Amino acid sequence: MSLLELQIARRYLEVCQAKGWPIHRKNALQQPPRSLWREEYIGAVGRNLKKTWQDLYIKRSNPWCQKLMPTPEKHIATETNFYLSQALSGIGCFGNFRHLIKKLDSPLCPCGTRAVESPMHLFTECTRFGQGRPVEKDISKPSSCLYLEKVVKELWILENGPQSVHH
Ligand SMILES: [Zn+2]
Repeated sequence: MSLLELQIARRYLEVCQAKGWPIHRKNALQQPPRSLWREEYIGAVGRNLKKTWQDLYIKRSNPWCQKLMPTPEKHIATETNFYLSQALSGIGCFGNFRHLIKKLDSPLCPCGTRAVESPMHLFTECTRFGQGRPVEKDISKPSSCLYLEKVVKELWILENGPQSVHH
C-alpha cells in the first residue's frame, strides 16, 4: 500500500459520499459515517488517511529512518537525490547493509573502533566523518541535509571510485 493508493482510496470515499453511491470496493481507509456534512466527512477521511499512512510508515521503516523522520510528513530542507535518499532511508552504501546483501565480508567500520558501520555510527560518532557534523541531525535544516549527503557521497566514492560520481 503506497501513499498514492491511499489517496485513490480517499478520493473514492469522497466521491461516493458526495454522489450517494454505494461503496462496493473494500477500502484501505476506515470510512466515517456517510451522514456527516460534506466538510466534516472530507476532514475525517483525511485524518484516517494520515493515521493509516503513519502506521504503514512505522511498520516498514527502520529505527534510523524514524529517528530522522518521526512522521512521514517531516519537512526535508533540500531536494532529495541519490545520496540523500540513502542517508534518509538508512539503506545503501553502509557497511551493515552491504554486509547484509553479501557485498562485504565484515560489517565493521574501518575506523578501528570495532563498531558496525551503520548509518547511526557513521553520521553520529565515526571519527572518519566528524568534519562538518551538526550536533543535532535535523533534516528540516539545510546543514543537516548537506552533511548527510556529503558523507554518503564520500562512502559511494570509497566503494565505487571517483569516476562514479557525476557533478
Ligand atoms: Zn567508524
